[in-house]
Amino acid sequence: MIEARSVTDRDEGSWFTISPNGLAALDVLDALGPVRALGVPTRRNVIVGATGRGLGALSLGTPLPDGTPALSFKRPRLAGALVDEARRRGIEVLDGVRVSGAEQDARGAAVVCDDGTRLTGDLVIGADGIHSAIRTAIDPDTPTGRYVGLTNFGGVTHDPTIAATLPAESWYFVFGRRAFFGALPTPTGDVVWFVNVPEAPISGAQRSATSESGWRDRLGALAAPDAGPFAGLIARGRLELAADNTYDLPSVPVWHRGRLGLVGDAIHAPAPSSGQGASMALEDAVVMASSLAAATTIEAGFEGFERARRARVERIVAVGARASSTKTPRGIRRVLNDAAMRLVFRHVVTEKSQAWMFDHRVALDPRARVVG
Ligand SMILES: Cc1cc2nc3c(=O)[nH]c(=O)nc-3n(C[C@H](O)[C@H](O)[C@H](O)COP(=O)(O)OP(=O)(O)OC[C@H]3O[C@@H](n4cnc5c(N)ncnc54)[C@H](O)[C@@H]3O)c2cc1C
Repeated sequence: MIEARSVTDRDEGSWFTISPNGLAALDVLDALGPVRALGVPTRRNVIVGATGRGLGALSLGTPLPDGTPALSFKRPRLAGALVDEARRRGIEVLDGVRVSGAEQDARGAAVVCDDGTRLTGDLVIGADGIHSAIRTAIDPDTPTGRYVGLTNFGGVTHDPTIAATLPAESWYFVFGRRAFFGALPTPTGDVVWFVNVPEAPISGAQRSATSESGWRDRLGALAAPDAGPFAGLIARGRLELAADNTYDLPSVPVWHRGRLGLVGDAIHAPAPSSGQGASMALEDAVVMASSLAAATTIEAGFEGFERARRARVERIVAVGARASSTKTPRGIRRVLNDAAMRLVFRHVVTEKSQAWMFDHRVALDPRARVVG
């Protein structure tokens, strides 16, 4: 396994939530046990309007048979713990090494690293995210990400008093007048929060000209007109994700070529609003392993994977795009009508209508072997 970032720094980075379908995939690989305790239980989304009036609540899926509900993780802690577990099982992990491309011939495949090193194997699976170098190696005309109209900020504030006022084990979402806000209380009295701002992408120049407190002042002003704890949380918090432009990748025509294949955001990046990107990537890992184990050739394995996955993942990316569009200026004007939103959460976006995402379970083909 090759990873561009160093996995030693586990405090830099923001949070995300993995729903039961993703946790079940980790469990199939015997990898949930070593990371479960790093996650904060997150059972539902509680949604309110700008005035603080309730709009609805949505479960984040049926917990696993042992009772584990969706869990929220600080990303680098989860990634680091999974790398530790991979190394414990004897899997070689090269971190701090960037891949620039991939090659193949009849006998094998290789990745070429930035420092010129060439690493060879039977096949290459690119799990290298929305800007995937392996996707471009497979198809030079592959699409790039589509801007979804939102910038993303995230942070954390230690405030046991505010944490105690928020619904326990839940994301608290506010459709604000100028932005969309989310907050999750943790058992240690921290509140993890994020802000989605409907605006044009933030440029590199704007990013380098704005200080951390400059961003927080701007976010605080966006939160000021709304009910809820966000103005205070932002003023006293630490920013962990600043000015991240949000892209999705709705449909990639070519998923594999010969010995080169792809999984995760590299082929189907949903907008963060879907809350499913990481879970889909974990499901992919199990389905890819199963499909390769069941096939007689690598190419047939990649074809089986695409057949098993394309419809589901593209449907989820579409859900994420729709959820993001409710947070853009036109969407925000629409959601200011609280009564209409309450009807949506009662009849359209319901636990039942979302069960196909959260309650999906992948199984490992018995011919695939879990190492370790
Ligand atoms: C702000 C935000 C919030 C989100 N919240 C959620 C959420 O709550 N729940 C959820 O399920 N999803 C969420 N997502 C989506 C989720 O993060 C992604 O869908 C998921 O991480 C995809 O996993 P991946 O492994 O395919 O790609 P990535 O997580 O992007 O991982 C790709 C890895 O490849 C490495 N890499 C990239 N290029 C190279 C290279 N050339 N050489 C070597 N290594 C390389 C990167 O360093 C990275 O570690 C969110 C996304 C964002 C942006």
